[in-house]
Amino acid sequence: MIDLDITPLEGWAGVKNRPLIIAGPCSAETEEQIMTVATALKDKGVDYMRAGIWKPRTRPGSFEGIGEDGLVWLKRVKDELGMKVGTEVAKPEHVELALKYGIDCLWVGARTTVNPFAMQELADSLKGVDVPVLVKNPINPDVQLWIGGIERIANAGITKLAAIHRGVSTYDKSKYRNKPMWQMAIELKRLMPNIPIINDPSHIAGTRELIEEVSQKAMDLGLDGLMIETHPNPDEAWSDAKQQVTPDVLARILGDLKIRKVSTDNVEFNSSLDDLREQIDTIDREVLEAMAARMKVVQQIGEYKRDHDVTTLQVARWDSLLSDRMVKGEKLALNPDFVKEIYKHIHKESIKIQSEIMNNENANA
Ligand code: PEP
Ligand code: MN
Repeated sequence: MIDLDITPLEGWAGVKNRPLIIAGPCSAETEEQIMTVATALKDKGVDYMRAGIWKPRTRPGSFEGIGEDGLVWLKRVKDELGMKVGTEVAKPEHVELALKYGIDCLWVGARTTVNPFAMQELADSLKGVDVPVLVKNPINPDVQLWIGGIERIANAGITKLAAIHRGVSTYDKSKYRNKPMWQMAIELKRLMPNIPIINDPSHIAGTRELIEEVSQKAMDLGLDGLMIETHPNPDEAWSDAKQQVTPDVLARILGDLKIRKVSTDNVEFNSSLDDLREQIDTIDREVLEAMAARMKVVQQIGEYKRDHDVTTLQVARWDSLLSDRMVKGEKLALNPDFVKEIYKHIHKESIKIQSEIMNNENANA
């Protein structure tokens, strides 16, 4: 477990028993766009208004951000509407300029978290500064790299820290722009229990139709907030047009969200939950005992194969076993893909055990 000095969300965002909400356009485009969206977001339960000032684009030639002018507009939002504002920083110069204009929170994008040199430069530029910093997961599914980025910022003395879960890039096309890989967020929580995690359904979804479903899933998992790209006229947006929603749609999504709590004082619920968890504990013990028994047989087979000079891997047997277990699993209402994944792990371990038996013989020969 990694125990960093982290100020809880309540201590800097004033958020307790509800998700932190960050909303605003992918990019600041014009002063009018920023003031229009800010005015519309002001009474919609938004804690920070976001707007990208410097945009890390995949290929050159597209809109790469409005730059310093946008910071002037965000400062206007702060001064005239009393809203807190945030933007993405990728370089020390960005940090310096954002702080000069009083930006209330900074986030680090996925293409920056992936690079430890860039993270360290950012961290160095944040020394002695007291500003909340949110670190997006890197574009590849590497939780250690995400943790490393957070640690670098923490080591610079920043305690108002959070992570942003925005999914990962994949070669395969799926319904999402970035595969959510929820297990990354779960693993980060396990390793760093005190880090708040904000979900970014916009960059996961890539299309506005999926924002609600992803947001609800994040709430069901108990994540601590949402960052949702919101634009006064999404179809005309200069970046990420397909995934942005209007302020009214944002308000509807937030209003419909079912917010679940991590625990409750309800005695009856807690005692039923304890009963069910005891059942799970018993079943898991049986699963482990069955697995241990299976591996003992695997070992015997390994010795037998060794003594008869037969290979460990028997492709035809493995193929028919896998199909058989998937069919049997499905009859028991188990998802065949789930059964397949389990058996891939079991088979890998079985081959490993048998290979060790063969290798020992080779070593002794
Ligand atoms: C963004 O938030 O606009 C952004 C560039 O996101 P990401 O770093 O997640 O791609
Ligand atoms: Mn974007």
